[in-house]
Amino acid sequence: MAKTIQAVRGMNDILPTQSASWQYLEAVLRDVVHAYGYSEIRLPVMEKTELFRRSIGEVTDIVEKEMYTFEDRNGDSLTLRPEGTAGCVRACMEHGMLHNQVQRLWYKGPMFRHERPQKGRYRQFYQIGVEALGMEGPDIDAEMIFMTTRMWRSLGLKDVTLQVNSLGSPEARTTYRSALVEYLSSRAGELDEDSRRRLDSNPLRILDSKNPEMKAIISTAPQLPDYLDSDSRVHFETLCALLDDAGISHEVNPRLVRGLDYYSRTVFEWVTDQLGAQGTICAGGRYDGLVEYLGGRPTPATGFALGMERLIALLEAGGSELPGNRPHVYLVLGGEQGTRSGMVFAEELREAVPGLRIQTNCGGGSFKSQFRRADRSGAVIALVVGDDEAMRGQVTFKPLRGAGEQEVLSRQDIAGRLSQVLDLQLNRMAEE
Ligand code: ATP
Ligand code: MG
Repeated sequence: MAKTIQAVRGMNDILPTQSASWQYLEAVLRDVVHAYGYSEIRLPVMEKTELFRRSIGEVTDIVEKEMYTFEDRNGDSLTLRPEGTAGCVRACMEHGMLHNQVQRLWYKGPMFRHERPQKGRYRQFYQIGVEALGMEGPDIDAEMIFMTTRMWRSLGLKDVTLQVNSLGSPEARTTYRSALVEYLSSRAGELDEDSRRRLDSNPLRILDSKNPEMKAIISTAPQLPDYLDSDSRVHFETLCALLDDAGISHEVNPRLVRGLDYYSRTVFEWVTDQLGAQGTICAGGRYDGLVEYLGGRPTPATGFALGMERLIALLEAGGSELPGNRPHVYLVLGGEQGTRSGMVFAEELREAVPGLRIQTNCGGGSFKSQFRRADRSGAVIALVVGDDEAMRGQVTFKPLRGAGEQEVLSRQDIAGRLSQVLDLQLNRMAEE
């Protein structure tokens, strides 16, 4: 027999046992962004490579070593999107969505990065991203943070903390960059290979190094907040005040940075210590220079993206009971009349009890084997329609998980009885 084919390394199947958790998470997060008046934008998973080279930047980890880039049959260089901002901004520019108007947008979907797969780090992973274009004040930055705070609250997540910083204006950052390079050059002998390489190309990224030996060197480096221009300082102080007003605690992390020139002012990250090295669940900030950099008119912008796999892992680590999509009812069928009549009855029930999940036995089988399937399905109730029941217009109602006695009811009483028993469950589903 030929060797079976497996999935691409770092690309996961989301199995039927997991998909309900994903749907739940997506629904909660979608409701939160909608509560702030954001609209969904759906974008291609592939873009011209040039877009990412220009918008993410040549000297970043993503562009240097993580992109899935290939030539299509026409010889055009395409790339599977490693993140969503570039495509979103491209679409807004292409469709004239930035002239005399602001945009509040969100998207979700798979992103692709050729990284070393490990827990919380995959080659295909899912993000939800939010972008607001055309607004420059700290108020919209605060809104981003309010929104994420509300997401964690809606999910019952507690072990997350907010770090914020300001990158200042591009000019202020240039001055800071020189000071940083001067300091790091004076300790060049102690730098690791990655940092030595970045010293020329992207020195601010060194502050973000995950190498513990670099941390000591970084801790005594010049600090970005000491180099802020006064407008950016006011912007940042106002943001922090807005967060205080809303009772959102935040830690100013002077080493929280983004390396590229079109980033400015606000950066923030939500981090947790529950997920080991992959502790950032959400990252965001301003990218006021990007639209102009891509050839549009200057347009301030801010946004964030969160990692779905890490959020699910965090919910599981906190012992949250995530919903499943098991049926409520399993319908056991016997005999020819029973089977035909039962199939129709199941349709009537689905009509009568909105939200009811009823799985019909298909493919026959003895009562014994059908009850085994009923058990395995996770249903809480089995309904039985055999030839006898069909003839009398009755149904046998059998609780499966120790919840009461078996009874024989007339067909018209089943919907009511199910509603009683399942009331709690259906209510919970409605809330989801
Ligand atoms: P990291 O420092 O962990 O590599 P990043 O700075 O590359 O993260 P962003 O580009 O800011 O990440 O992406 C936003 C979020 O998307 C991250 O905070 C994380 O939750 C998630 N994320 C990023 N890369 C991956 C990945 N390879 N697998 C799973 N989730 C990811
Ligand atoms: Mg990364």
